Amino acid sequence: MTTSTETAPWADRFGASLMRSLVPPKVMLDHGRGCRVWDVNGKEYLDFLAGIAVNSLGHAHPAIVRAITEQSQKLMHVSNYFATPPQLELAERLKRITGAGDAGRVYFGNSGAEANEAAFKLARLNKGADGRRTRILTLQNSFHGRTMGALALTGKPALRADFEPMVPGVEHIDSTIEALAAVIDDRVAALVVEPIKGEAGVVDLPEGYLQEARRLTEAHGALLILDEIQTGVGRTGSWFAFQSHGITPDAITIAKGIAGGFPIGALVTFGWASDLFSAGQHGSTFGGNPLATSVANAVLAEIETSGLVDAAIEKGKRLRAGIARLQSPLVEEVRGAGLLVGVGLTKPVAAAISADALERGVILNAPNESSLRIAPPLIVTNDEIDEFLGVLANSLEAVA
Ligand SMILES: *Cc1c(COP(=O)(O)O)cnc(C)c1O
Repeated sequence: MTTSTETAPWADRFGASLMRSLVPPKVMLDHGRGCRVWDVNGKEYLDFLAGIAVNSLGHAHPAIVRAITEQSQKLMHVSNYFATPPQLELAERLKRITGAGDAGRVYFGNSGAEANEAAFKLARLNKGADGRRTRILTLQNSFHGRTMGALALTGKPALRADFEPMVPGVEHIDSTIEALAAVIDDRVAALVVEPIKGEAGVVDLPEGYLQEARRLTEAHGALLILDEIQTGVGRTGSWFAFQSHGITPDAITIAKGIAGGFPIGALVTFGWASDLFSAGQHGSTFGGNPLATSVANAVLAEIETSGLVDAAIEKGKRLRAGIARLQSPLVEEVRGAGLLVGVGLTKPVAAAISADALERGVILNAPNESSLRIAPPLIVTNDEIDEFLGVLANSLEAVA
């Protein structure tokens, strides 16, 4: 026996049952493999969004399937009253690939927002000798997540407005070296920045920004906290974006691509920042569970053994050169690094381009009206990049 709800078209069911906070999707997906996904009607799509830079190994990757299968047969969850081997292995692996080394420490949560909540609490612990170090600086148009602390950090007033009052102490400044130099003082506990602003449309920081931010935060005793949730895990052609800027931050937050789609987030601290938290000051029931950390270990090992970090540079070059070669009057600039690509448009037609591409079986994202975001799985092949460029050419032409 079926109820009327079960037989109603899926979009009606979505509209009737999912919270109104979600924008109803156009497509219902059924399964995926590699860089492709299929909807419930059997239509195939080339996935150049990868669940917003999450599916680093694409869909149904055997290394992930194996990790989930094997670990779920052993232990999935034990609480933080117990240690597990995959948790320790991942913490040590993160200390190695971030360069945090022996002095590094790792906290595990379950999402990007949770990683940033932990970073926010870390900033609060940098109180200064007189306890008056309470300012936190972040950038306008930044995105750090939807929970109240992460939202307070987020530099998009439209996302915050309905949820005032915000957690106090956060100031959103212009993304220029001058703006930072003008406001920073010894009462700043932390500067929180995305090395490339992903949700803003893959927008690069000004040349030399991170170096100068490092110099100024160090001079004033403030933490430099980098939100690498979107830029991290090989996506921009280094394990973490800061590594191509020749600086060492005090902390970074990681989530999205680290377990290829399995939920997990992490805060990694460097040097003296590793001594700020003391026992009992933060925690999470699910955080660092053996299943999530096993999947992250499998994903990071696969990225490493297959050389996907370096490959992201070459593949990104092919993608960027390909977009430039289209010579579309709609393309104003190509931004980002490695396989995190933003296309700035000359007209506010991003949603129309994304909808047209979806029709043609290609998934790409329009984070705002004048930007496209392209973030394929790191396993993307040259042939898939060329196929994508062919469809993008058609969509740009159709919308122009
Ligand atoms: C996605 C994202 C977040 C939030 O991550 P969630 O897992 O959605 O909570 C935070 N910061 C950046 C830079 C992101 O891209």
